[in-house]
Amino acid sequence: MSQTKTCSTCRETKPVSAFYRNGGGKPGYRTRCKGCLNAARRNGPSAATRIIKEIVMHHHNPAFPLSPEAEAVVYTSMPLPPAIIALRERREQRAEKEKLRRERAFRAKYRQCPAMTIPAHMREAVV
Ligand SMILES: [Zn+2]
Repeated sequence: MSQTKTCSTCRETKPVSAFYRNGGGKPGYRTRCKGCLNAARRNGPSAATRIIKEIVMHHHNPAFPLSPEAEAVVYTSMPLPPAIIALRERREQRAEKEKLRRERAFRAKYRQCPAMTIPAHMREAVV
């Protein structure tokens, strides 16, 4: 019997021989035909995938430069996915904790009263 399958990308119905098998010993075929899969491999990741990767890199290392496209996603008022908002909040909380840790270290170093406020110009010098 001759089996056919419809490609999820080009929507054409083709014999299963036009599809690669699934890996890992699972029965079945890939959802995209060989032609569409190979074309996708040649073109590399989509723009959306590249932007998401950039934003993730930037989250882990704020010095990682963002392309104008990625910056538009992060810094405009368009609604962000909740996962990205949560990542941003965690980054701010970490920065706040780090600031407190540095202030405590400063006080310990100079044996200052814990209630004492560090003058802004001195905080600039150590924090
Ligand atoms: Zn196809």
